Amino acid sequence: MRTEAENQKRVSELLAREWRMLINGELVPAPEGRTLEVTSPFTEQVIASVPDATTDQVEEAVQRADAAFPEWRDRGPVARAELVRKLADVVEEHLDDLALLDAIDGGAQIRVMAGDVRAAATIARYFAGLALEIKGESVPATPTGVHFTSRMPWGVVAKIIPFNHPLLFAVRNIAAPLVAGNCVILKPSEITPLSALLLAELAKDVFPPGVFQIVLGNGPDVPRTLVRHPLINRIGFTGSEPTGQSILRDTADTGFKEVTVELGGKNALIAFPDADPAKVAAGAVKGMNFTWSGQSCGSTSRLLVHESIADQVLKEIGALLARHTIGSPLDPEMDQGPLVSKRQYEKVLDFIARATDDGAVVAAGGGRPAEHDTGYFIEPTILDNVDPASHVATEEIFGPVLSVIRWGDADDPVAIANSVRFGLTGSVYTNDLRVAHRTAQRLETGTVWINDAGPHYLGMPFGGFKSSGLGREESLDELLSYTQLKSIHILT
Ligand code: NAD
Repeated sequence: MRTEAENQKRVSELLAREWRMLINGELVPAPEGRTLEVTSPFTEQVIASVPDATTDQVEEAVQRADAAFPEWRDRGPVARAELVRKLADVVEEHLDDLALLDAIDGGAQIRVMAGDVRAAATIARYFAGLALEIKGESVPATPTGVHFTSRMPWGVVAKIIPFNHPLLFAVRNIAAPLVAGNCVILKPSEITPLSALLLAELAKDVFPPGVFQIVLGNGPDVPRTLVRHPLINRIGFTGSEPTGQSILRDTADTGFKEVTVELGGKNALIAFPDADPAKVAAGAVKGMNFTWSGQSCGSTSRLLVHESIADQVLKEIGALLARHTIGSPLDPEMDQGPLVSKRQYEKVLDFIARATDDGAVVAAGGGRPAEHDTGYFIEPTILDNVDPASHVATEEIFGPVLSVIRWGDADDPVAIANSVRFGLTGSVYTNDLRVAHRTAQRLETGTVWINDAGPHYLGMPFGGFKSSGLGREESLDELLSYTQLKSIHILT
């Protein structure tokens, strides 16, 4: 493992390059020197200038993708999967550099970002391995005819991704549509674009021109041009609820498109009275994803703990957080780096201030750690006695803030968990199998963990109920969603 100083040196070398987009197999800047600046949340300094595409460039990317589509479709799934595997190999070969860029750009800890790069390669290989599952069925609709379905790609697919997990999402989101035979245009977050722009360099010689392209732009113009484009029939979006709503409105206005939206969460971890307080505390800390400052859609940011064990659970959480270290994202010894941006930092501090105004009690953390006066750092913050209907308990914070809601025998914790409009994940701590199973059935969420919180399992669908989104990813369902069914009837 490299030291912080060695990581810093390598980051400086990486940042010395000219950042380019990938359009039609070429690495290109935006015209007239149009750039946008990327700020490191650790140093608060501008660390890179990246291309700010024009809508003409987006148009060109779409036209090139459309032109490349027939040949890519007709290659067949096995040959396409081979190139997706090749991409996974190239990503893994550049693991250290990709992880370093994510750490300095997004602020999350280097070890965690290295794990993201490994996971990205694994997921790409998983979808490559599923290539021949893009298959149809035959139905005995007539005694002598042949009636079968065939899965066809959509054509040009736009993938729009958020700022957290930049490289993981960049690779994970393109693998399934490419294997399914679509050409893909990726729009990374303008807040954390660097690893995707290095990916542009790495992917340039993997895929034929136009099959995989990356465009980047400041503000909504570039992604909205993709969303509204008549040649794009399938959009995969991961990001916030308001942007998801805007995409659904835009697609309704501009034609009929297949859209999946993977949105936010306000996820509950329910601890029943029979649960071991130490295990609940460990799950609560793990489920909060403090190692990337809580900036994860799946974070279990509401701890619904039975009053009989609440004090003990909070004591154990305090002991765990006492060992939690905060510092440079490039220092492999640290547990947590800064939040991604000043905007996100200020938003989280506002949430904490409003929560205390509403009567919550700060049981741990509460703001910037005293030892850091630069960087958008916020300590893991535990708010106790939170009202389940209050702002902090119902809105997604996307920061290192856990709201503790105590419940008693007269309360229904599942009803409290389900009372928010989101429905992404849920976690249940109990040793009673019947309670666990009934609670899992009643939770209005796309994922439920029993006696755990946080992990994703390859092949298991991930996605939300209610306002957490539409569609499922990380599974065969995702691959098939990048195809549309055709029925063919051969009558003899
Ligand atoms: P965001 O919605 O602000 O941005 C996401 C992407 O959308 C960016 O690339 C952005 O440029 C683009 N965009 C902005 N305006 C657009 C428009 N009008 N039309 C189309 N695209 C537009 O989200 P963010 O702040 O980057 O990410 C945080 C959010 O993502 C949180 O709500 C989090 O819960 C969610 N998220 C969800 C999942 C999941 O799997 N459900 C995973 C990770 C993050």
